[in-house]
Amino acid sequence: MQQVPFPLSPSLWAATASAPPPTQPLAVSVQADVLVIGGGYAGLSTALHLAERGVNTVVLEAREIGFGGSGRNGGQVIPGLKYDPDALISMFGQERGERLLRFAGSTADVVFNLIDRHAMDVPHVRKGWIQGAHNTDALRIAHDRAAQWARHGVDAQPLDRAQVGRLLGTDRYLGGWVDNRAGAVQPLSYARGLARAALNAGATIHTDTPVTGLTRNGGKWVATTAGGAAVTADRVVMCTNAYGGDLLPGLKTSIIDANTFQVATAPLPETVRVGILPEGHVSSDTRNLLLYFRLDHQGRLLMGGRGPFREPKGQADWAHLERVMLKLFPQVAGTPFEYRWCGRVAVTRDYLPHLHEPQPGLLVDIGCQGRGVGLQTSMGRAMAQYVATGDASALPLPLSSVVPFPMYGLRRLYVNAVVTWYRMTDGGV
Ligand SMILES: Cc1cc2nc3c(=O)[nH]c(=O)nc-3n(C[C@H](O)[C@H](O)[C@H](O)COP(=O)(O)OP(=O)(O)OC[C@H]3O[C@@H](n4cnc5c(N)ncnc54)[C@H](O)[C@@H]3O)c2cc1C
Repeated sequence: MQQVPFPLSPSLWAATASAPPPTQPLAVSVQADVLVIGGGYAGLSTALHLAERGVNTVVLEAREIGFGGSGRNGGQVIPGLKYDPDALISMFGQERGERLLRFAGSTADVVFNLIDRHAMDVPHVRKGWIQGAHNTDALRIAHDRAAQWARHGVDAQPLDRAQVGRLLGTDRYLGGWVDNRAGAVQPLSYARGLARAALNAGATIHTDTPVTGLTRNGGKWVATTAGGAAVTADRVVMCTNAYGGDLLPGLKTSIIDANTFQVATAPLPETVRVGILPEGHVSSDTRNLLLYFRLDHQGRLLMGGRGPFREPKGQADWAHLERVMLKLFPQVAGTPFEYRWCGRVAVTRDYLPHLHEPQPGLLVDIGCQGRGVGLQTSMGRAMAQYVATGDASALPLPLSSVVPFPMYGLRRLYVNAVVTWYRMTDGGV
């Protein structure tokens, strides 16, 4: 487990989430059919769907439920992957590409259906996602993106400048498109809701239980934990994403574990709030260093985007986001900023999520690319089906080998260079 100095507690989500279900650290050694490592969306969804199939499943989480990206994110539930439909089909071929597209296109459905089915105490809206275009090339791509999804039967439309201006409440974008499948959740409440559903279905969850070692012994997997107790299981599903550290040698070198930062204002005065995202959309833009924003269920305006690669040192690390918010939405000037927090996303070389099976019975899911609320929930469901049935066609992507980033040790330099380049080419707000 990697040291993560920045706690979850200063976040808006920790301050406003529904209570977590009661969980305890692992105190005595136990046996299970499946051990899931990591209590984020991927791990909890895997556990829920395995338990629903009657598989004896134990989740070990190093800190608390949703401690990683799942409790810190923007809560935007956006279907799809980083690639557009045509690109996915040309990358994976017609049959596999269309299957992947169906999977990626249904990830928001999976989240909202789970919230309904388990009557989760999660503030949520489903009014669509608008991607605003920051320049003319991006506008052409955005309109083409809408057309591609529409050809696949999706409720997606191109938007002109006036439409985007009205629906976002800022005149800074040249147009864009809207994907009506998308929506928003209180992300930590959703992680806790998944945990509660998994427990109700019969899974066991232990928090404050970092797995410190994973070995194969007599055809079984044995996970040792910091407290001394162990879990012996037939199968292991590793869902540690950007927070996994060195538990599985080499895995962390296959991703860049970059921080993304967020700020939230205090609840906006009603007169200001009604002019921003008035129909309940969520939004992120077309910049390489994208900006993402939404209102929360209590009328705060949130803005997320780049930050230093390192862990934050103080309030100044969020100052650029506060400036950006006031440029996009000058009408919020005068409302104080209430929360500042950040979390890590896992970016892979090809900007796709990866599933690995480095040894028999050990399945690894990594690489959310910063769009994991729907993706990792759906991935958990698919992994549960694969683990329970052995049918690899349940997985949306082929199993791949772990490939390290070239010159991984220099990643900070590399990321800083890329960020500098993107800041120049993205242009100002
Ligand atoms: C600031 C931010 C904003 C984002 N915004 C959005 C958004 O708006 N929409 C969207 O779709 N996605 C967004 N994302 C991405 C999304 O949050 C992630 O894709 C998703 O939460 C990843 O889920 P996960 O279960 O794979 O991993 P995580 O939620 O990161 O869970 C991994 C867990 O593994 C645990 N762990 C690690 N090592 C061990 C160990 N040795 N033993 C036991 N436990 C261990 C960690 O403590 C952690 O809880 C954002 C991410 C961040 C950080």
